[in-house]
Amino acid sequence: MSLSESQIERYGRQLILPEVGAQGQQRLAQAKVLVIGAGGLGSPAALYLAAAGVGTLGLVDREAVELSNLHRQILHTTRDIGQPKTASAAARLTSLNPEVAVHALQTALSAENAAGLLAPYDAILDGADNLPTRYLVNDACVLLDKPLVHGGIVGFDGQLMTILPRRSACFRCVFPEPPSPGEIPSCQQAGVLGPVAGVIGALMAQEALKLLLGAGEPLAGRLLTFHGRRSAFREVPVRRDPGCAVCGDAPAIRTLQALEPVCYEKGSDPSRTMVSTDGV
Ligand SMILES: [Zn+2]
Repeated sequence: MSLSESQIERYGRQLILPEVGAQGQQRLAQAKVLVIGAGGLGSPAALYLAAAGVGTLGLVDREAVELSNLHRQILHTTRDIGQPKTASAAARLTSLNPEVAVHALQTALSAENAAGLLAPYDAILDGADNLPTRYLVNDACVLLDKPLVHGGIVGFDGQLMTILPRRSACFRCVFPEPPSPGEIPSCQQAGVLGPVAGVIGALMAQEALKLLLGAGEPLAGRLLTFHGRRSAFREVPVRRDPGCAVCGDAPAIRTLQALEPVCYEKGSDPSRTMVSTDGV
């Protein structure tokens, strides 16, 4: 399969990169990436992946576009208010790049459907807006052996980590237990500056492209934190925990289970991290 003239023009500035080239571009065209959440993080991530020519993009989100989403969720516009986010996102991504097949999955991820939804994809991006989904996505990716890119934001700050199942630390290795209710505020409680979603979401797309191309060094075994007030990044080394409940040597979690609903009401999703894992 060779590239058409319009493809050579569209992707020209990345085609000249030695890590991409025609072969890499074809690899992207055949790749399938699932983005969990068409919100603050999913918006920039999906836009860059579509623009780069990732052939199939899945988007999981059950919510409709609200006015209060628009300061950071750049896939959506004022005209889209009331529409399902997946439909709004699919229209925007297809208009950006008609060569991309967008799977609009308007559903809530659950223990019952997660494995089936994730299975067809080569890489997963987690921009979910609640902790139960984050643990579920992490566990599903470990059990299915799918690379996962985690991103989280709150206030002026964000964090990012790539998970290569059983080879690098997973989300549970770093955060073994969900913290107690209200320990850390969510975006809904604490607020978030829109560009922070852009910073972390764009880096999530970059991690996915690197994974698909086999280029560079993935952000695995390293938790990257972004401190927006000082415009500074910090890197924390993280190790796979042999005692981890899902990716450890004797894992307790062997099938996907619904998490207990304690402390998971919207707006109170907590985290032990220095920043929330809220992706909305
Ligand atoms: Zn683990």
